[in-house]
Amino acid sequence: MNTLNDTQISKSYAIGIDIGGTSLKCGVVNELGEILFSFLVSLSGAKTEAEIITSIVNAITQCTDQLNEPIVGVGIGFPGLIEDNVIVGGGVNLPGFEQLPLGKILKERTGHDIVIDNDANLMGLAEVMYGAAKDNDDAVFLTIGTGIGGAILINKKLFGGYKNRGAELGHTVIHHNGIQCPCGGRGCLETYASVTALIEYYKSQNKTAEENTDGKAIIEKYLAGEDHALKTMQHHFDYLASGIVNYVNIFSPQKVIIGGGISEAGQFYIDELTKRVKKHALPVSFSNTKIVAATLGNKAGLLGACANAFQKFQKTEYAI
Ligand SMILES: [Zn+2]
Repeated sequence: MNTLNDTQISKSYAIGIDIGGTSLKCGVVNELGEILFSFLVSLSGAKTEAEIITSIVNAITQCTDQLNEPIVGVGIGFPGLIEDNVIVGGGVNLPGFEQLPLGKILKERTGHDIVIDNDANLMGLAEVMYGAAKDNDDAVFLTIGTGIGGAILINKKLFGGYKNRGAELGHTVIHHNGIQCPCGGRGCLETYASVTALIEYYKSQNKTAEENTDGKAIIEKYLAGEDHALKTMQHHFDYLASGIVNYVNIFSPQKVIIGGGISEAGQFYIDELTKRVKKHALPVSFSNTKIVAATLGNKAGLLGACANAFQKFQKTEYAI
């Protein structure tokens, strides 16, 4: 656990919680985006929704006890589509939370204002507030992992579509009648350009590949010039770039931010994408766009949850 630093003086604080399938990360962040302290809570012992909710409440109490200052509110990141603090779909790892009024329950239990949003949305918000696009207003964020999550930032605010049910960038279709996607559609970007897709494609090319081959191993083989890895990465870059071309042509963002472990592979990864997007996007739409790697790593979820609380609650709490 990080400890509270007495030299960090700030007027306002928010609590952020990043909820995953097996654990939650909780912490306190000030308005400058500095994490005062954070800790992980395992959810492996929490078998029911009620037990998970109690773990969340306890984590919030632990934060307020340790901080001993007022907070503007609590921001929460959750997998899935979230409308008005209710998970309305896509909560694959935590299916019991769908349709549960989680925000209302937590407000009643803790007395704090609560705002819940999709975890990838919040990672994108963190990058535009404190990270790779902190000097920009408009950005598109993609996190490349087992799937592809994304966020659209306009004027430093999340754009989620009507009732926050859109911005599913990983499920934009880039191949008509293509590979079946877990979402029910076919040909979604994530079925071609996620790390899962990368590994599957590599194994389809290299029949003698080890069963436990992961993205990192494929990158290493690519850098070593192995033929199957070269072909696999070209395929990955081509498809991911196609997705990015669409976002550039629609939003003309100042930054396209690439997150997820693979974005840390090296500058070559960003360069290969940039080369392809530049070739295929509308030149006018791409003229102010830079493709960059995310900079906040695994802190993005927590920072974004707090940024969301500051954006939603700070004005009313601190109105002069
Ligand atoms: Zn899909």
